[in-house]
Amino acid sequence: MRKRVAVIGGGIAGLAAAVRLRDLTPPGTEIIVYEQGGVLGGKLRTGELAGLPVERGAESFLTSGPGGDSPAVAFARHLGLGDALVHPATVPAALSITGRLTPIPAGTLVGVPGDLTKLGDVAHVTGADRDEGRPLLAAGADIAVGELVRARYGEEVVDRLVDPMLGGVYAGRADRLSLEVTMPQLAATARVEHTLQAAVRAAQSARTRPAAPVFTAVDGGMSRLVAAAAAASGARISLGLPVRDLSRTTHGWRLLLGPVPAPQTDDVDAVVLAVPAKPASRLLAAVSAEAAEAVGVLDYASVALAAMALPPGTPLPELSGFLVPPSEGTLVKAATFFTRKWPHLGGEKDAVIVRASLGRHGEQDRLQLTDDDLLDRARHELGELIGADLPAPVASWIQRWGGGLPQYTPGHRDRVAFARQQLPPGLALAGAAFDGVGIPACVASGERAAEDVSKSLEE
Ligand SMILES: Cc1cc2nc3c(=O)[nH]c(=O)nc-3n(C[C@H](O)[C@H](O)[C@H](O)COP(=O)(O)OP(=O)(O)OC[C@H]3O[C@@H](n4cnc5c(N)ncnc54)[C@H](O)[C@@H]3O)c2cc1C
Repeated sequence: MRKRVAVIGGGIAGLAAAVRLRDLTPPGTEIIVYEQGGVLGGKLRTGELAGLPVERGAESFLTSGPGGDSPAVAFARHLGLGDALVHPATVPAALSITGRLTPIPAGTLVGVPGDLTKLGDVAHVTGADRDEGRPLLAAGADIAVGELVRARYGEEVVDRLVDPMLGGVYAGRADRLSLEVTMPQLAATARVEHTLQAAVRAAQSARTRPAAPVFTAVDGGMSRLVAAAAAASGARISLGLPVRDLSRTTHGWRLLLGPVPAPQTDDVDAVVLAVPAKPASRLLAAVSAEAAEAVGVLDYASVALAAMALPPGTPLPELSGFLVPPSEGTLVKAATFFTRKWPHLGGEKDAVIVRASLGRHGEQDRLQLTDDDLLDRARHELGELIGADLPAPVASWIQRWGGGLPQYTPGHRDRVAFARQQLPPGLALAGAAFDGVGIPACVASGERAAEDVSKSLEE
């Protein structure tokens, strides 16, 4: 009989699952993507500013993965977007340390240095990175990145380097974030090496294709990737209705969707659940209370993006952007000089586009400003950080991501593995709530979930 598979959540993980399901299941299998919002893509959404495509969410993804191309690059190629993949200009980025923009030291792993002689004035190493006759991390153990690096290199390396670099990705603090999830290569080498320097160097030398550009974007924007994935999946797309309940039936699953006064049900044979932790936990409650609890503990940081098109000729430092450590006290945690970083946008003849990222984990109250006030605040702080007042923008927008970035604390991997063990076949979890925040991790997670549930369809 013709099978039906539900993908709940139309972000990149759900879409990658839908495409892989299309590739793996017999022709005629019905795949349905349920997205509560009015558009697909989740945190991938391309906006417009001064006539240029400017990302309202994720901007780029890692080019390389363990076996060569990262899963995101492989996915884009699979969707026929190989020719649309572009890379940033080789312009350096900086750190704002005590009010001064300083180049990011070379040779670090997300801010954790492997060569302590290259730190310059950015940070002084004060810890003792001694060989104590055993690996840094016991087998199966996890630790907060900050705890490990503070013990080995001292406070400044964490506060001035690791915090802003990790914060650039997670908007979180190194003292809370899991080494195993946020820096898996370093966690692997820390289980073998006896010093942090040796572990960082081992992780760096295990990297493949060091010559490839680190980041890749899509010419035309991430929404192109989203549209191509939706088309390739051949899925029926249900927009605008949240799935409110998930329960088992004798042969499969029943979804309850739509508003409370006008509920709808849909019966399917298998489900990929690709939503953030809070809705995932709610939907798992009737399936496994233990899984729901393990998934529901994940906390999130709220962030906002302020994008400004400044008049052509607005002078900016010769950088692609900069990161700001939390200790500087600004709401701005990072800034990208968008038109300079991305040459495919055609230069700065029409506008100079700056995109600032605002807010960190635990700071959501500081984002409680009107859009106009948030924009003013961003422009004022950027001026101070750059050392020159910025002119009024000719166009701008604010994009808020309430609960946008997961904060994986130590033990996250084990909690997710435990949750998965509680689930019956035919239900798989995918996405940033489980397997990592980056687009490559989300794509790989969606693809794995599709493989899991398609096996259950054959049984
Ligand atoms: C500002 C920002 C910048 C980022 N920059 C980068 C970057 O440059 N590079 C990078 O690799 N990563 C970046 N990320 C991270 C990356 O974008 C995300 O981790 C990734 O897109 C998450 O994908 P996902 O499919 O797991 O989840 P989401 O994108 O969150 O998608 C989940 C979807 O589920 C839907 N949903 C929720 N509940 C229900 C329900 N009950 N029923 C139906 N649908 C539901 C939501 O509406 C949403 O569309 C960034 C994230 C943010 C917020």
